[in-house]
Amino acid sequence: MARRITPESDIYDSERLGYQRSSSHKPDLIFPAETAADVREAVAHAAAHDLPVAVQATGHGLARAAEGGVLITTGRLNAVHVNPQTRTAHIEAGAPWSTVIEAAAVHGLAPLSGSAPAVGAASYTLGGGIGLMARTYGYAADHVRAVDVVTADGESHVATPDHDADLYWAMLGGRGAIGIATSLEIDLVPVTTLYGGALLFDTFDAVHAWREWLAHVPEEMTSSVAVIPFPDGRRRTQVRIAYLGEDGDSLIAPLRRHQPLTDTVKDIPYTATATIHNDPTEPAAYQSSHTLLRELPAEAVEVARNQTTNVVEIRHLGGALSRPVRPNAIGNRDAHFLYGIVTRGPEVPPVHEKTAEALEEWSTGGHALNFLYAAHATPEAVRTAFDPETYQRLRALKATYDPADLFRHTHVIEGP
Ligand SMILES: Cc1cc2nc3c(=O)[nH]c(=O)nc-3n(C[C@H](O)[C@H](O)[C@H](O)COP(=O)(O)OP(=O)(O)OC[C@H]3O[C@@H](n4cnc5c(N)ncnc54)[C@H](O)[C@@H]3O)c2cc1C
Repeated sequence: MARRITPESDIYDSERLGYQRSSSHKPDLIFPAETAADVREAVAHAAAHDLPVAVQATGHGLARAAEGGVLITTGRLNAVHVNPQTRTAHIEAGAPWSTVIEAAAVHGLAPLSGSAPAVGAASYTLGGGIGLMARTYGYAADHVRAVDVVTADGESHVATPDHDADLYWAMLGGRGAIGIATSLEIDLVPVTTLYGGALLFDTFDAVHAWREWLAHVPEEMTSSVAVIPFPDGRRRTQVRIAYLGEDGDSLIAPLRRHQPLTDTVKDIPYTATATIHNDPTEPAAYQSSHTLLRELPAEAVEVARNQTTNVVEIRHLGGALSRPVRPNAIGNRDAHFLYGIVTRGPEVPPVHEKTAEALEEWSTGGHALNFLYAAHATPEAVRTAFDPETYQRLRALKATYDPADLFRHTHVIEGP
C-alpha cells in the first residue's frame, strides 16, 4: 500500500510546500509517490471518494492551489536513465532538470532544459518548454517520444504518436488537466558546451541595443534580456546569451561595445548553464505575468522604462519554436517574444494589468502555459495557451479521459 501523509503529520508542510509561496496546496491527504503504482493507487483512492487530485513535483509552476482533496507529490519518483545509443532519456515525473543534465553530460548529450535546473523536467516539458536552446531545437514538448500516464480511471497508458495517440497529443500541452505523467522518454541533443553567459549593463538603453542586435542573429542564438532592480536602488540590464554556432565573440561584439559592467560570456559546459540566467533558487512569494508578442518595436521596450520595482524579462522566441516536429497541443507558435514581469509578494500589484494593456497592440493574444502562474493562471488565460481548434479538441479529450474533472487543481481545461 502506498504511503500517505495527513495534516497531523510532522512532514505535512515540508511535503506540500514548493518553490512558489504566494499560495500553496492544502490537501486532506498527500500520497508521496515513489512508483507509478503509488500514483495509480492515489488516483484510484481519489476517484473512489470523489476527491479532486493535485500533483506537484517542485512547485515552480503552481497554478491553482488545492483546498482539501488529494495531493500526489513526485519528488521521490525521480530516476533518470540515459540511452546513449538512441540519444534519449527516460525521466521519472519528479526529476529536476539538474539530474537530467548531469546524467546526459556523461554521454556528451544535453536535454532541452530551461533557465533554472531546479525546475521539474516532466512538467516543464509537458507545458511546452522554452529552453536555453529553444530557437535552435524548438519546444521540449516537440522532442518527447513517449509519455507514461495515469488517467482518472486509475489506469496506466504508454502514450506515443502511434499508440494512444490522442492521449499523447493532449498530454503535450494539456498536461495535468488530462492525466498524471509518471515518466517521459525524451530526445537528447549532442551538445557538451555552448557559448553562453550574461552581460550586465548599467543602463536601460541596453535593452534597445539588444533589440536592434536581434535583427542579425541566427537560429543558433537564443537570448533574453532582464531588467532587474538591485539592492543598491539601481536597475541593471542583463543580456543572457546561449549560442551553438561558430565565432560567438564576433556575433556579440555589437553588444560588448556598450561597455558591460560584467561579462561572463564564454564557452561553458552545458552543466554550467544555470549561470546564464542566475534565476533565484530560494522559495518565495511572487507574482508573474506575461504577454506573447508578434514583434518588439522600440515603443514596446519603453513600456518597461519606468517600472522600478519589478523584474522585466523579454525572451526572444521564433526560430525552431515556430515549427512543429511531432503532433501535440502546443500553441502560439506565431509568438516572437515573451514579455514577462515578476513582482515580489503574494499580492498582484496593478503593474501586471497595466503592462498587459500597454503591450496589447503587439500581443498575439496568447499565453505560454509554462509561464501562467497562480493568480494569472485563470481558465481564460489557459484557453489562450492553445489555438482555438486545439482547445476544442482538448475539451473533448478532457471529457473522455477525466469526465468527473478529478484533475482540476491545475491549469484548467474546461469540459465540453
Ligand atoms: C525560476 C523559474 C524558471 C523557469 N524557467 C523556465 C524556462 O526557462 N522555460 C520554460 O518553459 N519554463 C520555465 N519555467 C516555468 C516552468 O517550466 C513551469 O512552471 C513548470 O510547470 C514547472 O514544473 P515543476 O514540476 O517544477 O512545478 P510544479 O509546480 O510541481 O508543477 C507545475 C504544474 O505542472 C503540473 N504537473 C506537475 N507534475 C505533473 C505530472 N507528473 N503530470 C502532469 N502534470 C504535472 C501540475 O499540475 C502543476 O500545475 C520557470 C519557472 C521558474 C519558477
